[in-house]
Amino acid sequence: MADLETEVSRRRTFAIIAHPDAGKTTLTEKLLLFGGAIQLAGAVKARGEQRRARSDWMKVERERGISVTASVMTFDYRGCTFNLLDTPGHEDFSEDTYRTLTAVDSAVMVIDAAKGIESQTRKLFEACRLRDVPIVTFVNKLDREGREPFDLISEIEQTLALDITPASWPIGMGKSFKGCYDLFNDRLVMFERGGTQGEASLKIEGLDDPKLATTLREDEVQRLRDDVEMARGLMPQFDLASYREGHLSPVYFGSAVNNFGVGELLAGLAEMAPPPRPQPTTTRAVEPTEDKLTGFVFKIQANMDPKHRDRIAFVRLCSGKFRRGMKALHVRSAKQLNLHNPVLFLAQDRELAEEAYAGDILGVPNHGNLRIGDTLTEGEQLQFTGIPSFAPEHLQSVRADDPLRAKHLGKALEQLAEEGAARVFRPLIGTDWIVGVVGALQFEILADRIRTEYGLPVRFEPTSLYTARWVEADEPAELKRFLDASRASIGDDHNGDPVFLARNAWHLDRAAEDYPKIRFLKTKEQN
Ligand code: GDP
Repeated sequence: MADLETEVSRRRTFAIIAHPDAGKTTLTEKLLLFGGAIQLAGAVKARGEQRRARSDWMKVERERGISVTASVMTFDYRGCTFNLLDTPGHEDFSEDTYRTLTAVDSAVMVIDAAKGIESQTRKLFEACRLRDVPIVTFVNKLDREGREPFDLISEIEQTLALDITPASWPIGMGKSFKGCYDLFNDRLVMFERGGTQGEASLKIEGLDDPKLATTLREDEVQRLRDDVEMARGLMPQFDLASYREGHLSPVYFGSAVNNFGVGELLAGLAEMAPPPRPQPTTTRAVEPTEDKLTGFVFKIQANMDPKHRDRIAFVRLCSGKFRRGMKALHVRSAKQLNLHNPVLFLAQDRELAEEAYAGDILGVPNHGNLRIGDTLTEGEQLQFTGIPSFAPEHLQSVRADDPLRAKHLGKALEQLAEEGAARVFRPLIGTDWIVGVVGALQFEILADRIRTEYGLPVRFEPTSLYTARWVEADEPAELKRFLDASRASIGDDHNGDPVFLARNAWHLDRAAEDYPKIRFLKTKEQN
């Protein structure tokens, strides 16, 4: 038991959220470098290239320079085991990103010092806030001219309605950037362009220490004293509970590409970031230190190798101890699942998992029986909650170029829907499939995947449909009455649940008015 508690308390499972170009990839790479998981900076990208070469559809990803797939990287630092879950940054993939955020206990928000809060930073932040995910902020690119720290901090405070406590304070910026004052440890950390992990740091006894004058000019010392005094006067002191509840964010300043501030950030995460937290289910909260294994699927990645129709289900463990070879109950199907070859994701490569604890992510190879939102236990009937599906905002019909292969198309669409890559609806009337996505770019990617992974050239065509809503009612008879009367606008999703396909906003409003007992749902819990 003590073993379980120790293991859980040293887990830090987190994601990095950022607007594209703020420096997420660079920071990821540096964190892995500090964590000793990679020897050479550049390895993340190099490994990415290899992986991309494996499958054709990822050409889309490469051409567009965006990261479609999320992965998991595990490394140790200062006695903690970190699981870093990568989130795709492009706005067309918000649903995938959102689901990944259901599997983390905290997040690092990277901001470009010249740009401040950008559209995607904000969206991702809101997704974190919905689940009270605590956030540490990293203001990046201090080696370039950027905005004034006070200006940036007040923007974060105001646009995100978040308390800020500076963890470090920059001295100068751009060409005159000298380093940071570490406000938590009273240290001066000197900046070195292209620096390695061991920046020169100077322990000082507060801001009146005469040692300051040996490294900084008189005016720099004065400015630093004034800034820090003002910052401490204006902003709240760090409060661990407030941070962990998601109300307060400590802010680090640095330059990821120069390795600067990364060590402080990582040490901060080891110290402050929360270990795995209790997870809600439909019946009770599951504590991470419970001795029975539980977990949920938050992501499916299919056809990583197109030659084998394998899929990897990413399972976030919520309690207990995983040992290789053990069996788990797949609650939805009531079947036993043999966990003989799941993998843990170490930064170097995938590695067979021998044991794992709450907070860790297991990759479970399977042939399609595991779906997003599924719960695994050692026998208890549980269903984890909070992994939603979003109503698609773009709907198109899809047809195989070769009509004789329509059945294959159905199979391919069903698999893509189970993977969470798209919503797929089969209208009760008509033969075309309707595919719904959250971001329009996904149609291109889907067409490419269906062609390369299933050998089926397909055509997507615009429809006159406006949106889709899952429908439900307390009284089955009422639901039936609505479905019968609206057959021309009803389809089934891949689980066989009924969906109302609205032609326009008026059509939807009208249906809601005519059938007040029907609920038209924009999101649906998976399963
Ligand atoms: P992502 O899109 O958020 O993953 O951003 P990247 O990590 O790919 O970085 C975007 C660009 O910013 C790249 O050209 C990086 O080299 C650059 N970059 C990242 N960190 C820094 C930094 O600290 N200073 C400067 N000047 N450039 C940086």
